[in-house]
Amino acid sequence: MGKKILIIEDEKNIVDILNYNLCREGYTTMEAYDGNSGLELALKEAPDLILLDLMLPGMNGFDVCQAIRAAGLAMPVLMLTAREEEADKVLGLEAGADDYVTKPFSMRELLARVRTNLRRTEMLEAAEEAKAASGVLTFGTLSIDTEGCSVTKGGAPVDVTQREYELLKFLASQPGKVFSREALMEQVWNYDYVGDVRTVDVTVRRLREKIEDVPAEPRYIVTRRGVGYLFSGQ
Ligand code: CA
Repeated sequence: MGKKILIIEDEKNIVDILNYNLCREGYTTMEAYDGNSGLELALKEAPDLILLDLMLPGMNGFDVCQAIRAAGLAMPVLMLTAREEEADKVLGLEAGADDYVTKPFSMRELLARVRTNLRRTEMLEAAEEAKAASGVLTFGTLSIDTEGCSVTKGGAPVDVTQREYELLKFLASQPGKVFSREALMEQVWNYDYVGDVRTVDVTVRRLREKIEDVPAEPRYIVTRRGVGYLFSGQ
C-alpha cells in the first residue's frame, strides 16, 4: 500500500499534475479544492502527508494547518505558497507546517521534499518504537534506561549508585503514585522494614542532587508530606 497523500489546492491544473506525478511514484492521493473539505478529509482519512495550498477558498492554508494540529494530527504538512514572502509567513506564524515549496515549483523538487518529509516521520516512528521496546523511560530531559540500567540528563550520563538507580526506576515506573518510606524500604531495599527509614530520605536527597535542576525544588521526586514520595512525570 502506497503512502496516502492529501492534496488541498484550488487550482485544478496543479492538482492534476500533482496527482499524476505522485501516483506514478506509487503514492495514493486524495484531493480537496477548498480549505473546509480539505480539513474534513484530513481528519477523516489521517493521510501520511498533506500538500496544502496557502490561498484557498473558505478556510485558508494557515487555518487548516492549525486546525489539523489542534486535532492532534502530527503528519508532515508541506505548504504550497505563491511567493517567498508567503513562505516567510508560513514559518513566522508557526501554523505547524513542516516545510514549504514556492510556486512555481519543479516537480522533481516537490517529490524530493515529499520523500524527505515522509522519511523523517518514519525515522521518528522507528525511534519511538525502539525506545518503547528498549524500556527507556523519558521525562523531560531525564531518561532512565531500564535495560542498560543507566540514567541520563540532557543526554549526559548521571552517575548513580545501584540503590539510587533502583529507587529512581521504581518510582518512575509508576509516576504519580505515592509510596511511604516503609513501602520503599520493602520494595527497593528488598527487606521488611526494620531499619531506619531515613535511609530512604538520604537516598532521595542524593538522587535529587543528581537529577533535579533545583534540588531544593524537585520536579521529579516530590515529597508528599506525612505520606512519602512520588515521581512526577509532568
Ligand atoms: Ca490557491
